[in-house]
Amino acid sequence: MADAARIAQEAEMRLAPLAAAANLGWWNAQVEATEENAERRARAELAWSDALADRALFASVEDARRNGAGGQVRRRLDLLYNLMLRRQVPDALRAGIVELETSVDLRFSRHRGVVGGVEVGDTEIKRILRRSDDPRERREAWEASKTVGAEVSDDVRQLARLRNEAARSLGHRDWFALSLATDEVDEEKLVATLADCDRVTSEPFARWKIDLEEHLAARFGCAVAELRPWHYSDPFFQEPPPDAVVDLDPYLDRKDVVALARRTMEGLGLEAEEIIARSDLYPRDGKNQHAFCIDVDRAGDVRVLANVVETHDSVDTLLHELGHGVYDLGLGGELPWTLRTTHLVATEASALLHGALAWRRDWLERVLGLSAGDGAELEERLLSARACELLVFTRWVLVMNAFERALYADPDGDLDSLWWELVRRYQGVTPPDGRLSPDWAAKIHIAVAPVYYHTYLYGAIVALQLARALEAEVGGVVDRPEAGALLRERLFAPGEAVRWDRLVEQASGFPLSVESLARAVAR
Ligand SMILES: [Zn+2]
Repeated sequence: MADAARIAQEAEMRLAPLAAAANLGWWNAQVEATEENAERRARAELAWSDALADRALFASVEDARRNGAGGQVRRRLDLLYNLMLRRQVPDALRAGIVELETSVDLRFSRHRGVVGGVEVGDTEIKRILRRSDDPRERREAWEASKTVGAEVSDDVRQLARLRNEAARSLGHRDWFALSLATDEVDEEKLVATLADCDRVTSEPFARWKIDLEEHLAARFGCAVAELRPWHYSDPFFQEPPPDAVVDLDPYLDRKDVVALARRTMEGLGLEAEEIIARSDLYPRDGKNQHAFCIDVDRAGDVRVLANVVETHDSVDTLLHELGHGVYDLGLGGELPWTLRTTHLVATEASALLHGALAWRRDWLERVLGLSAGDGAELEERLLSARACELLVFTRWVLVMNAFERALYADPDGDLDSLWWELVRRYQGVTPPDGRLSPDWAAKIHIAVAPVYYHTYLYGAIVALQLARALEAEVGGVVDRPEAGALLRERLFAPGEAVRWDRLVEQASGFPLSVESLARAVAR
């Protein structure tokens, strides 16, 4: 027993500094994309991944875990085992997977579609699908968004075969099963939860879509039966159309986005000042154009990278990232390194909960300073927009999850047909006539972020559950320090000492269920 504790501690002492160095290397490379930073990052990353692949270290963890360790020591060993397991495949196979992933990723970033004889990037394709009223141009843009699929599909199938080989060498059915197991997601429960998501969204989605289709048919001068994928406003119909979103930008005129985020966190009694001070928040040349939060050392060095501009989306994004950050800072300081971190579902739920505050009437009135009249006028529309967003997103996740399950069950199957069967079934989108093309492979996540989409949906569901629980217990979230205190105590402090599904139950009062999703979309 003492031996098991010693092994866990030794593993942590070995891994902790390497993880911090890799995180810092990543951060520096994102804030300033120089060759020197890229090289340093690669070196730190390699040292970290070599340690995770260390056979002797893994064997000692596995042994200690098998030999009856209990309680918190067992929990630490389980997490160390999960962290290291995927790296325990034969070196040649592991290198082959990394090489092929890198090559596919590179082809995605280099690929340009062609519209009207001109090479265009993803942003331009998205712009056309959002704005253009010309069905011919739309179709060309949509087709252009899929050409990368034909270019990489053979390699994505090969990646699935290699990943399966790796998973089987570790005693798992396939990569799908291995991914869920190491993320502590129960496959049977996932399948059942997604079936529930299908059940509760199917009818409201169909109802909402009838309106959308009538609107689109009128806009493009065709019959509803003639609508095809390029009539929707993004290449995969994974986002709500622009006119289903409430535009709050006019209220952000001459507002300080960072001050609004700071004010929001203060209202919850959550400490974000330290994070803001360490962060890199405004756009600059040579900097990552997205946003993320990183807990560098699991000892208080938490930072956000963002590209804040004067828009309402920027407020949502910054609150989202700070929602990750306050979680990291709220982890119990006495926890050992392995437990002083978050499960992806739990931290995503915290981030989504905080980001969503900016879309609530009470936030608009109390933090942004809108009049009660304006707030009341917006509230109904905001709730409908949220319902629509959840519907579109849930249906899309159902496609992705079912597809990836099938991909790993049989990488040689008729995936082209399967993709469109799923799109038709869950999204109600009619495939182009006689389409025979690997359109699924144009979705980059299938190649480089496999078996991950359910995490976003779980995070969204847990965020809804948490919001409801806080509403019931302390009357809301905005300007409620009691809400911040409950989050800190029940969600943040335990870290990974409590498995994520039990943590959800502990923090929200009941296990993950689709009840709150059903409520949110029934509008
Ligand atoms: Zn996030």
